[in-house]
Amino acid sequence: MTYQQLKQDESQYVMNTYGRFNIAFDHGQGSRLWDVDGKTYIDLTSGIGVNCVGYNNEKVVAAITEQAHKLMHISNLFTTAPMVQVAKTLVQSTGMGKVFFSNSGAESNEGAIKLARKYSFDKYGEGRSKIITLLNSFHGRTITTLHATGQSRFHNYFFPFTEGFDYAEAGNLADLKAKADDTTCAVLLELIQGEGGVLPLEKEFVQQVEAFCRERDLLLMIDEVQTGIGRTGSLFCFQQYGIHPDVVTMAKGLGGGLPIGAVMAAKTCCDVLGPGTHATTFGGTPTVCAAANAVLDIVNQPDFLSEVVKKGEYLKNGILAIGSDKVQGVRGSGLMLGIIVDADARAALISQCMENGLLVLTAGTQAIRLLPPLTITYEELDEALAIFRKVL
Ligand SMILES: *Cc1c(COP(=O)(O)O)cnc(C)c1O
Repeated sequence: MTYQQLKQDESQYVMNTYGRFNIAFDHGQGSRLWDVDGKTYIDLTSGIGVNCVGYNNEKVVAAITEQAHKLMHISNLFTTAPMVQVAKTLVQSTGMGKVFFSNSGAESNEGAIKLARKYSFDKYGEGRSKIITLLNSFHGRTITTLHATGQSRFHNYFFPFTEGFDYAEAGNLADLKAKADDTTCAVLLELIQGEGGVLPLEKEFVQQVEAFCRERDLLLMIDEVQTGIGRTGSLFCFQQYGIHPDVVTMAKGLGGGLPIGAVMAAKTCCDVLGPGTHATTFGGTPTVCAAANAVLDIVNQPDFLSEVVKKGEYLKNGILAIGSDKVQGVRGSGLMLGIIVDADARAALISQCMENGLLVLTAGTQAIRLLPPLTITYEELDEALAIFRKVL
């Protein structure tokens, strides 16, 4: 089918909830994609941070294939080796306590919110349920995580939302302290606000928030749905901040392309959710966990992670070296970068990138967001930089 035929059927049969680009993809290899009409692209999006080890990754495809032949799914009423192994790797690599598996980022944050409220209920009784998040954050699209998201444009249409969230300004400790009253049980934040514009939080601010959480017995919960699984050059971004979160959520890159999410809790609160308090049919199913184990085998290696840092620097410096007056700066860390441009110029720049065979994302009002596969080669990066040079 050509793009035009597909698009016609799509508009007839698929709900129009996404402002899609005019491209339909057929297949990929490494960091390169082919559309249904045969045009090729260098991909600096990885399916929004999902395909972290590239397309058609041999190890991941083999792990999925092997597990699909053995046992594709079994309910959470039974134990499986792939599921236990993912949890063991995550815990042993971070010093956290235990893991609960979900299917997406929003669901991971739902799990974190439930965990925080029950932790507080068990210890202090009813009435301590408020969670502080940050302005400009993004935590998901369920009725609860929309309200956890600190952007008022998401708080529309779907009333009533889950109550119990308040929003503090990123970097403003006094504001956060003022909003945390005696009904508060937790703080939930992204260390680099992804959808909000690739905005890293200051280390000092995050450490002060941690100290405040300890003082008040609030759970410090880090949303690593976008920053996790090697994206910023360490397995989790929090490991660069010198903090010990109570809860860490993840999804996107964990399955390398299959849908899996997880909530990981510290030893002090990892037994809060007991039998009957939380569950999901597909969570931690063997096939997605086989993929996650293959992804972690690749990503969770010191050499691989230091390459992520180097490639990130290479890409950032390459963009800055173009010397375009359209570029106001590049921020972010590892292979999670935002090129800051004029809000008015951004859409045209992005469509010119696409015409020239380069896929990029947006974030906030001014960032061209780059989330390439972590396995991207220097050759592929050079091709991307050549296209940026032409477009900028
Ligand atoms: C993408 C994202 C989510 C939502 O994940 P879904 O899998 O789309 O539900 C939540 N938090 C952050 C930081 C994200 O980047």
